[in-house]
Amino acid sequence: MLLEIRDATKIYGSSGGSKDEVVALQDFNLKIPKSPASITAIAGESGSGKTTLANAILGFVKLTSGQVIYDGQDIAHAARAQMKDYRRDVQAVFQDPFGVYNPFYRVQHVFYQVIRNFGLNHNRAEWQQMIEEALNAVGLRGQDVLRKYPHQLSGGQRQRIMMARAYMIEPRLIVADEPVSMVDASLRASILDVMLRLKEEKGISFLYITHDLSTAYQVGDQIYVLYQGSVAEKGATFSVIDRPRHPYVQLLVDSVPVPDPDVKWEGEVVFPPEEEMRSSVASGCRFYSRCSQRLDQCLQQQPPLYQVDDSDHQVACYLMST
Ligand code: ADP
Ligand code: MG
Repeated sequence: MLLEIRDATKIYGSSGGSKDEVVALQDFNLKIPKSPASITAIAGESGSGKTTLANAILGFVKLTSGQVIYDGQDIAHAARAQMKDYRRDVQAVFQDPFGVYNPFYRVQHVFYQVIRNFGLNHNRAEWQQMIEEALNAVGLRGQDVLRKYPHQLSGGQRQRIMMARAYMIEPRLIVADEPVSMVDASLRASILDVMLRLKEEKGISFLYITHDLSTAYQVGDQIYVLYQGSVAEKGATFSVIDRPRHPYVQLLVDSVPVPDPDVKWEGEVVFPPEEEMRSSVASGCRFYSRCSQRLDQCLQQQPPLYQVDDSDHQVACYLMST
């Protein structure tokens, strides 16, 4: 496996023993194979734990329990040299990358820094060629953008420059946390297209995090639908979205207003805002209060993931247990 996450749980505020604990992520498991390269979509409404997951993978958040295993190595116990590889192999692209730019430097500085930090090359002519190639890969033309300052670029251009930067490093995995949520529809399509091309042509895998089910459907090979920090349903994207089994995921998929199945995923399908406050004391299914098919059993314990067919389509719902 390229990346494996085992029983990852993150509880914020747990150290002080206060009652303001938030279970941001609970018993989360994920596997991304080494090959072929794939796009794993993590979809969920705001507050469902997506960024916590991304930050745990990138090492910005320490898990309360569980493991992040890269190439067979638990990153919490990795040696220095292994961490160095990891920091190169796993790159991040965030929602609004404005903050990662120094406003006083031209865009080209981002690329020079990458070349320096990762010791990519020593020859200036080769530098230029690498940068040019990376920019072309994300549909930008070099001389236009390199001499600009960050504030002179659109959000979509900043986003693509982050992709180009990641491309130059040639990572094996890009963690993209809501990369298209701040851009308009046409740019969204072109950034999603860049992801598909980097996957196909460069063998780069993605963890694509989104609150928009339709883009997850468009690019995801696998999908994990999170609800309040737990997986409600996961599996091959075509299987989960075409035949959802969890009442929550069915609700989401059915809420798409267009009746024609051929066009139903064209628009943006945004999750409704999270209604309930979460707490560590909640037992049972987290979707209970919103569920139209709830059973008494659902209050007792969080449902485990049930296999629903012979693929790896799994659903956390007691309705699947019979
Ligand atoms: P998402 O990215 O899906 O919106 P997050 O991972 O950001 O979700 O948040 C999951 C839950 O954890 C939310 O209830 C959020 O309020 C809480 N949370 C996130 N970061 C922190 C933090 N640093 N301290 C306390 N609670 C946090
Ligand atoms: Mg987030």
